[in-house]
Amino acid sequence: MAQNPSSSFSFSGIVCSTFGHNYLITRKVTEHIKEYRCSHCGKEVTNTFSGNLEALTSKNKQINTSLALFFEKKMKRYYATS
Ligand SMILES: [Zn+2]
Repeated sequence: MAQNPSSSFSFSGIVCSTFGHNYLITRKVTEHIKEYRCSHCGKEVTNTFSGNLEALTSKNKQINTSLALFFEKKMKRYYATS
């Protein structure tokens, strides 16, 4: 009689570690910086200024929020003066 598989067993985790994450864009911060979430395991990542993908920590979320505000203001000024 085999033991029941652990309830924490995650098929999506296997898919991700085998095929890689399937990231979907959840927020567009700027033209080059976006937030993503994996549709399989729910892992959240973000682009950084250096072009790397980093885990979407609360610190990175904060940075993105201020970035988005900054770019919004900049765009408004751009359209206002042109
Ligand atoms: Zn994943």
